[in-house]
Amino acid sequence: MKVPLLDLKPQYLSIKNEIDEAIKRVVDSQYFIMGPDVSLLEEEICNYLNCKFAIGVSSGTDALLLALMALDIKPDDEVIVPTYSFFATAGVVARLNAIPVFVDIDPVTFNINPEDLKRKITSKTKAIIPVHLYGQSADMEVIMKIAKEYNLKVVEDAAQAIGTQYKDGKFVGTIGDAGCFSFFPSKNLGGFGDGGIITTNDEEYYHKMKIMRVHGMEPKYYHKFVGGNFRLDSIQAAILRVKLPHLDSWSEKRRKNAELYNRLFIEANLAEEAGRINFDEKNKVLLPEAIYKNSGVKNYHIFNQYVIRVKNRDKLINYLKSKEIGCEIYYPVPFHRQECFSYLGYKDDEFPVSNNAAETSLALPIYPELSEEQIKYVVNTIKEFFENSN
Ligand SMILES: *Cc1c(COP(=O)(O)O)cnc(C)c1O
Repeated sequence: MKVPLLDLKPQYLSIKNEIDEAIKRVVDSQYFIMGPDVSLLEEEICNYLNCKFAIGVSSGTDALLLALMALDIKPDDEVIVPTYSFFATAGVVARLNAIPVFVDIDPVTFNINPEDLKRKITSKTKAIIPVHLYGQSADMEVIMKIAKEYNLKVVEDAAQAIGTQYKDGKFVGTIGDAGCFSFFPSKNLGGFGDGGIITTNDEEYYHKMKIMRVHGMEPKYYHKFVGGNFRLDSIQAAILRVKLPHLDSWSEKRRKNAELYNRLFIEANLAEEAGRINFDEKNKVLLPEAIYKNSGVKNYHIFNQYVIRVKNRDKLINYLKSKEIGCEIYYPVPFHRQECFSYLGYKDDEFPVSNNAAETSLALPIYPELSEEQIKYVVNTIKEFFENSN
C-alpha cells in the first residue's frame, strides 16, 4: 500500500467544478491584481476568525516581514522567536537587520517555552513571534501577559494554524497585535501557489500594513513609507474563497486521523498515552498531545502536521520509505544550529528540548482524505520496524 505524506489531488477533485469556475471567472475578467476576490477573501477571513481587519499578501513569509516592517523593527532591535520552527520565523527578523533571539520549546507542544522567553528579554527587545506549531496554539495567555509587562509587540506566526482556537475560544492570529497566515499548498487552507494573509484588530496598524503592501503608496505615486510588493493574486483569492467553507470539515478529519493514530499506537503497545516526553520500554513512540482538547473549543488543534518522536528515527525513515510510506522531519536543524545564524554565537546546549526534537521528531501522513486502512498500515509498519530491530 502506498501512503504519501500529502496528496492534494483528492481534495481538488472533490471541489473541482467550483474551483475551475472561480479561476475562469478571474481569467474572464482579466482583473489579476487586487481584484474583488482579494477584498472579499479578506472580509470572509475576518468573519471566520472573528477579527476586525485582514490583508491578503504574497506569502506567509511576506506576512511576517510586512507585520514587522510596519512595527518599525529596526537594525539591532531584538525579536524573540522559538529556535524550533520553519526558517521564515527567524529569517524575516534577520532580513530587517534586527537580531533574532532564540528560545527553547516546550517538550509536549513544541511551542515556545514562556519561562525561557522571559529570561531572554533585554532592554533592546521589541517583539515576540510565537509560532502555533503543527496547528496547536502556543500558550497565549502567558505570552500576552509577558508582552504587556515588558511593553512588547506580539506577531503570531499562525502559518500552520488557520482556524485553530486557543483554550478561551479565540482564534490564533487574533490574540496578538498581528496574525500571519500562509496559503502555501500544504497548509490546511492552501492555494494553487504562494499566498498569505495578515490579521489585526488595530486600525492604525492595519492601515499602515495595507499601504506598505503596495510600496507604502497613498495616494498613487506618493510614498509615505518604504514598503514592497506584497500583494495576493486575485486568482489565489478566488480559489481560497471556494476552499474556506470546507476548512473546518478538513481540519476535523485531520483531528480524527490523529486520534486514530494515537489509539492504534497505544493498542500496538508502542506507547502508553499521548503527551509522554521520555522514552522507555513502554514508550518507544512519543505521541503528540492536543493539550487544549478538554477546554470545550472545537478547533483545539488542526493537525497541519502529526509529529511523533522516535529514538532511532533515521533508520525508521528508511524502513518507511522502503514500504512506500511518506514522512518528513519538521525540523532537522533548529535556528541556533543554522550556519547563517552562527554569528549570533549561541551555545548548542542552551536548547536541550529543541535539540532533542530535531533528532527524534517525525511527521507522518495526516491529510484529511487518508483512509483508515492507510493509517493502520502506517502504524503496523512502525510496529514491524520495532519488532525487527530488537
Ligand atoms: C509555511 C510557514 C511559513 C511561511 O509561509 P510561506 O507561505 O511558505 O512563505 C512561516 N512560518 C511557519 C511556521 C510555516 O510553517
